[in-house]
Amino acid sequence: MRTLLKGGLVISGTETRRADVLIEGEAILAVGTDLPEEGARVVDCSGKLLFPGFIDGHTHFDLPVAGTVTADDFASGSRAALRGGTTMVVDFAAPDKGETLRHGLDLWREKAAGKCACDYGFHMTIDDWNGGISREIGEMMDEGVSTFKMYMTYPAMMIPEGDMYSALLRLKEVGGVAGVHCENSGIIDALIARAKAEGKLSPASHPRTRPAPLEAEAVGHLLRMAQLADTPVIVVHLSTAASLEEVRAARKRGQTVYVETCPHYLLLEDSVYDSPEYREAAKFVCAPPIRKKEDREALWAALRGGEIQTVATDHCSFTLAQKDMGREDFTRIPGGLPGVETRGVLLYTAGVAAGRITLQDMCRLLCENPAKLYGCWPRKGTIAPGSDGDVVVYDPAADSVITAADQAMNVDYSPYEGFPTAGSVAQVYLRGALAVDHGEVLAPPEGRFIPRGKCVL
Ligand SMILES: [Zn+2]
Repeated sequence: MRTLLKGGLVISGTETRRADVLIEGEAILAVGTDLPEEGARVVDCSGKLLFPGFIDGHTHFDLPVAGTVTADDFASGSRAALRGGTTMVVDFAAPDKGETLRHGLDLWREKAAGKCACDYGFHMTIDDWNGGISREIGEMMDEGVSTFKMYMTYPAMMIPEGDMYSALLRLKEVGGVAGVHCENSGIIDALIARAKAEGKLSPASHPRTRPAPLEAEAVGHLLRMAQLADTPVIVVHLSTAASLEEVRAARKRGQTVYVETCPHYLLLEDSVYDSPEYREAAKFVCAPPIRKKEDREALWAALRGGEIQTVATDHCSFTLAQKDMGREDFTRIPGGLPGVETRGVLLYTAGVAAGRITLQDMCRLLCENPAKLYGCWPRKGTIAPGSDGDVVVYDPAADSVITAADQAMNVDYSPYEGFPTAGSVAQVYLRGALAVDHGEVLAPPEGRFIPRGKCVL
């Protein structure tokens, strides 16, 4: 089947041009002016922006957390992703300590198979270290899992730093890259113990026990380790101005550092935790926590200046009833925000339409850079002949309002309730098939596992 998207503005990381996009079967056949209409279903895209399908490099679907499981599994999460223009997610396979990486990969493939409506890949979590796991890292690369995750906080996930260093060296050997959650665990634990001793058990204690300097300290710590190992790393969900300083210092030393941030750090500020109403504050609990206005502005400047490579969501959703688990003790609130559905429209509205970033920036942040960083370029991340026919048709004139009532995510709130958008996603094509039409998800759960290669960013 042929589809001709006619007369839209085609966005890349370097330019915007008026062009037709001809898709045949699952792939893009041609991009140019006045392409032949014969035999094609012609779709008038005049006045619309055509982005490559967005890639979300940070989601947690069907993840067991602190005695519960995320509200979104691969079925609801992927439908929500598609609805927001995201045609591929990279989720985190997370074996428990003592398990093999193979077991983690099999488990996550099982969670996604036959359920996922968008394409997907997996990062592999390294939360244990031994000879077997070191060997398995090579096997994971062969399986198309080329990125890995390590934690500097959460005892269930952390490994000793000597092992972390060994893991970095092993990844360097095979050409894999680690994304790391950077927060200083020991001091956070001490701050939590103090808050508890003082009886300060409400959600307001959450940001106070995970202050900005403890993220920056861990970022600096990681980057010195990476300097010694002489290998690139990804700082995931970077949220503060101070952490950016650490990244700049490492880059000045000649290191390659990739940085990811998330919409909630770009749009919200820490006053969200001040509400006396438990749920109003608890629904924003995530780690790192929402930061201050100054941090937010520093992140926007860094997006503009190319210092941050990608905006992913860290989608990790829980219902308000699940968030109630921490009513007596803020440390028991399952941490994470829903976001996989709203990233594109938020970045367009608060970024492009507000004049903070350009269309090209947005395309690099959501499409090109994650495709290159996560090793699926140019199959994904670009509208070019031979690439998958993943296209987001964005209507900049179709303003809307974000509400929980109108979302596919399996949660009963939105962190952005009432947020007026500039434009919205009109259609989404996934490998040539119309997957979303004006909010209606048409795609069956036939998303594919996309094997990924080495980072080319
Ligand atoms: Zn995460």
